[in-house]
Amino acid sequence: MRNIRLVCFVLAAGLAIAQTVDAPAGRLAARALGDTPIFDDLKELCDGIGGRPTGSPAAQRAVEWGAAKFRSIGLEPSVEPFTIPTLWLPVSAEAAAVAPAQFPIRLAAAPYSASTPGLIVAPLIDAGEGGDADYAALGGRARGAIALIHSREMKTFDDLFAEYLRNGSLVAAATKAGVAALFLESTRPRGLLYRHPISLDGSLALPAAVVSREHAERLARLAARGEVRVRLNLQNKTGGEYESQNVVAEIRGREKPNEVVLVGAHLDSWDLGTGAEDNGVNVALILDLARAFKQLGIVPRRTVRFALFTGEEQGMWGSRRYVERHRAELDNFAAEITFDTGSGRLLGFYLNGREDLRAPVNAALQPVASFGATDHAIDAIDGTDNFDFLLSGVPNLVGIQDPIPYLPDYHAESDTFDRVNQREEKITDAVAAALLWGLAENPKRLPRQTRSEVQKLITDTRLDEQMKPFGQWDDWQSGKRGVFQ
Ligand SMILES: [Zn+2]
Repeated sequence: MRNIRLVCFVLAAGLAIAQTVDAPAGRLAARALGDTPIFDDLKELCDGIGGRPTGSPAAQRAVEWGAAKFRSIGLEPSVEPFTIPTLWLPVSAEAAAVAPAQFPIRLAAAPYSASTPGLIVAPLIDAGEGGDADYAALGGRARGAIALIHSREMKTFDDLFAEYLRNGSLVAAATKAGVAALFLESTRPRGLLYRHPISLDGSLALPAAVVSREHAERLARLAARGEVRVRLNLQNKTGGEYESQNVVAEIRGREKPNEVVLVGAHLDSWDLGTGAEDNGVNVALILDLARAFKQLGIVPRRTVRFALFTGEEQGMWGSRRYVERHRAELDNFAAEITFDTGSGRLLGFYLNGREDLRAPVNAALQPVASFGATDHAIDAIDGTDNFDFLLSGVPNLVGIQDPIPYLPDYHAESDTFDRVNQREEKITDAVAAALLWGLAENPKRLPRQTRSEVQKLITDTRLDEQMKPFGQWDDWQSGKRGVFQ
């Protein structure tokens, strides 16, 4: 028998949504488009707590805040501790040109940068792109000098990935040349600084910092004419293994409480800005999704779980440890959904190499079809919290979003509350709620892949080409990462 369904149109944010008022997906979407506290939560997190690198007191406050938020929604959170092997926190970064001209240099330590041995004064050399050939051309002048490395302006995600991918060879060449420190020209003009992790395994023997693009160019012009001397003092706090926590809450499924659809975002951020686009806005989204189900009294067939991960910026440690901790449950995971690209328009989802996810995702999105978030991509994503779910064969999705406003402020001083596109975020809230409901309600469960299926997926999507430079390949090959039992 077919229900007679009442279709109405709700006007919100200037857009019309077609919905069935008696269906949970439509109710969830309509609620998201109305007045919700999502941006009040975001203000509390970004303005009240601010930048929150994992291992810092601010990150700890954010964990407590996340747990308190779930409680205020009426859910009892589970605060799940885990360990990260290497602590790195910025302390202070000061630099100035001392000759031939004197001026302060704006810079920010690159995550995992070593400290300088107190204040150093050293010649600055222009090391071009920072490759072996650049140092060879400098002869012995590089030894003991501060090497300035040029960068192109970052305009796209491909540019950003290229920045990450060159780290390994950049550091190897600089180490071989015996430089005292690395100055990385900022890829973003107008003085903008950001945290650019230059090592992904948590250790770097060299001091390294991102330098304001304009200051870097001035230093390079001066170096072309004669000797430039620079004063530098970079101090960072480093340490061994430490503990952080994920904050997780759930609404138990009405028919299949052991089966889980998890939606997650990372709670931690770098510290120069206040982590609004990366990734506070999606933390606020996860909280609002939990609130929506609770408020409307909607209980889907499967359990819906809401996860705030930490340690993401240090190498996706929270989600990695979550997968390890919950390994016995992974066979029962119907899907995992990650949001980590700010508040730009939601275009669709990365299917992470799994064409079999397209039809069920589209079916779940049917009630919010007017928003058109169905431009999915088959690409497999390495670089956010879906990754260890992917390696473990769990069906996983990552939101594909317009790179604006996320990208220009990525890890930067300018990643603050005012950057957030509130209109688009409300639509994302509506679409995510419908998707979560649809996947948790779908009578047919999405299957978990076997290890050999994941291996094939990695080959087909050429994910190995990212895993190798990111230092993840050996862990996958040895079975240390990618949980199957
Ligand atoms: Zn992020």
